[in-house]
Amino acid sequence: MVDEYVDNDRSAWSGRERPQYAAMLADLEDRRFDALVTYHQDRLSRNPREFEEFLAACERVGMRRFTTVCGVTDLGNSDGIMVARVFSAIAANASDATSRRVRRASDERAAKGLPHGQGERPFGYERDGLTIREDEAAVIRAAVARLLAGESVTSLVGWLGEKGVTTSTGKNVWRSPTLRNLLMSPRIAGLRQHRGEVVGPAAWPAIITVEQHERVVALLTNPARRTLRTARRYSLSGLVRCALCGGKMVSAPNRDRRRYGCRSGPDFGGCGKVYVTAPSLEAFIAEAVLMRLDSPAMAEALAGRHGADSDYQRLTAQVREDTEQLEELARAWADKRISMGEWLTAKQVVADRLKDTERAIARLSRDDALIGLVGTGERLRAEWDDLNVSQQSAIIRTVVDHVVIDKAKGPSPRLDPGRVRAIWRV
Ligand SMILES: [Zn+2]
Repeated sequence: MVDEYVDNDRSAWSGRERPQYAAMLADLEDRRFDALVTYHQDRLSRNPREFEEFLAACERVGMRRFTTVCGVTDLGNSDGIMVARVFSAIAANASDATSRRVRRASDERAAKGLPHGQGERPFGYERDGLTIREDEAAVIRAAVARLLAGESVTSLVGWLGEKGVTTSTGKNVWRSPTLRNLLMSPRIAGLRQHRGEVVGPAAWPAIITVEQHERVVALLTNPARRTLRTARRYSLSGLVRCALCGGKMVSAPNRDRRRYGCRSGPDFGGCGKVYVTAPSLEAFIAEAVLMRLDSPAMAEALAGRHGADSDYQRLTAQVREDTEQLEELARAWADKRISMGEWLTAKQVVADRLKDTERAIARLSRDDALIGLVGTGERLRAEWDDLNVSQQSAIIRTVVDHVVIDKAKGPSPRLDPGRVRAIWRV
């Protein structure tokens, strides 16, 4: 065998480019082979014009041996060629008719914003795909709000599991990828998607706003976002600093006692001198956060800081543009239109701007989450112990920038409030 040519998932009919088919034709012209086998003639070509080109090429190089697994087509005599032509015409007609029928029906539905009408019932909607199912819609709204407030998808999956919420089939529990797809789907924002692109408003009502949808997509597709695969155990992780060396204090359990520590050694690089017991520090900071949420100073500081929807729109559009430009640059380098040096320089400029924009979006989202929480300290205090660590952590992070811990006076890492200094974001 000389070679094998595979164009996966590319219908011979659709007219989309088939690179391997083109390679096969080129090899045929170069006389690299003298026989061709395909599964069925309609896998080779379902378009009579294309098939005529193939026949002409066979004639030019004198290739007569064309065989299919489903039946032999002998190009060695005129009867064989005629049979092949008839096959080709029948195949073309059949696929033309089906694809036109299917495509027209599906295009019409899309243009009207109607649902596909196939597949499983979409979560949040009734079987008709048009009526909101209130209990599920409430779950979607809560999940989106919590995600935008900083909770992880993993943690949301845990929450749905605890509440006993299943997917629309009623049989399956939620998993991170399925929940991620649901939260990112344009459908829940009342947008109709067709052939992978949003084509306009849908005929069904939205469960979340288009702005929320854009923010969820920006958040979940941000490559810089670190996904927490395991649920958090330390609500202050990443927020605690050592007063002596400024290093980040990390989880440093001592037998079964949870602690934050400024750990030394190559992996950590801290001074190794400051430790603090985790549960009491977390309770202390939580209390301080809840008090601060109810303070008049905070309400005042936040007045007028609500991010307008137009700001989000502008920033997410900027992210999209920059991402596309990065791809365009990479293509320009691949096509040798620019040099490696030019590519790297240009890439740096765009990547820096992209990072700034993403930071601005994160800032806006954090402020918005905070605005939603201001004045709720008292209520949150009553629920605090029922929240999971990821939820507690998300709330703490909206208020606290970081916490500095002094060295303990004695040998015990016991918490003395005098050792703690909270640096507030607001
Ligand atoms: Zn230290």
